Amino acid sequence: MSQHVFLTGVAGFIGFHTACKLLARGDSVVGFDVVNAYYDPQLKRDRLAELARLKAETGCDFTFIEADLADRAALDRVFAERPFDRVISLAAQAGVRYSLQNPESYVQSNLVGFANILEVCRHAKVPHLTFASSSSVYGANRKVPFSEHDGVDHPIQLYAATKRSNELMAHAYSHLFDLPVTGLRFFTVYGPWGRPDMAYYSFAEKIMAGEPIALFNYGRHSRDFTYVDDIVEGVVRASDRIAPRNAAFDPVHPDPATSAAPFRIFNIGNGNPVELKRYVEVLEAALGKKAVIELQPMQIGDVEDTFADVDAIKTELGYAPSTSVEAGIGAFVDWYLPYKRRQAG
Ligand code: NAD
Repeated sequence: MSQHVFLTGVAGFIGFHTACKLLARGDSVVGFDVVNAYYDPQLKRDRLAELARLKAETGCDFTFIEADLADRAALDRVFAERPFDRVISLAAQAGVRYSLQNPESYVQSNLVGFANILEVCRHAKVPHLTFASSSSVYGANRKVPFSEHDGVDHPIQLYAATKRSNELMAHAYSHLFDLPVTGLRFFTVYGPWGRPDMAYYSFAEKIMAGEPIALFNYGRHSRDFTYVDDIVEGVVRASDRIAPRNAAFDPVHPDPATSAAPFRIFNIGNGNPVELKRYVEVLEAALGKKAVIELQPMQIGDVEDTFADVDAIKTELGYAPSTSVEAGIGAFVDWYLPYKRRQAG
């Protein structure tokens, strides 16, 4: 049966792909985004134009609202107009290095904005809220793979601290108000319509311009690169299914993986980390051009490796990431080169 979905961050990379998937299966989607200038807002406008084109072509039920999550009255107006079967909240101030110079935007979007989402979901008695957390909550964890049962209370960037706060705030709301919530810890997502601030995209820009690319930690970082279609498949599976209650809840030391409230946290990654050096080689092959590489030491706030233990989401939600780095980078480049040509021409 088709659902009415409220989706935040719809002009963003993962939000855009999530909207496409929901609309293609016949859901009605109210998308919400402030279209901030953290990276080129034209790319966000182009994603929204693509959704408008889809709507014109297929007659799918899509509405866009341009507003800020920190503006509670704007959210209240949307929720006063119609009930929603699901809320998927992907809007956030993303990025790690940006938080060193712009901490207030993380507080506004990720804390004030997220608190507003919880409030409207509570008052509207939304049947299920799914939201984006991040692998960054694992901090400088050295034990791989990262499991939902690992300790995550030592974030090493403000961004990670806000994402961990979201998990705790959501847990409290779920427990207090019986709000079913699922949090998903995304691991380095890449693909077409991707984010220019992320390494693979900026590497592509620099390789094409013949400029050097800096590989921090001498290219030895490994990342659990996850193709966007795999992530979106997991987001939609999670949103469709409300997490079961688990009687093992300990109210003093709540473990988000075993909560009595209808609350779950899942890793959602590829479960197959790749060294940055190799990732760049695949990118070079897809672009048909060699990179000029500068090997550099670790940077402040960086983590060495990320590696998702995805057993829980595989077993409970049937999540099955299937895209190889070669196929995923190939799909990114197939989008990237014509997009750049259109921009230039
Ligand atoms: P994105 O930056 O492309 O999308 C986020 C969108 O949220 C943007 O369009 C932005 O304009 C919007 N937004 C930000 N603050 C807002 C506010 N206050 N009100 C309304 N809209 C606001 O990022 P993405 O890669 O699509 O990430 C989606 C979610 O997944 C984010 O929560 C991000 O933190 C999380 N995440 C992403 C990755 C990744 O690798 N892409 C990894 C871990 C977690």
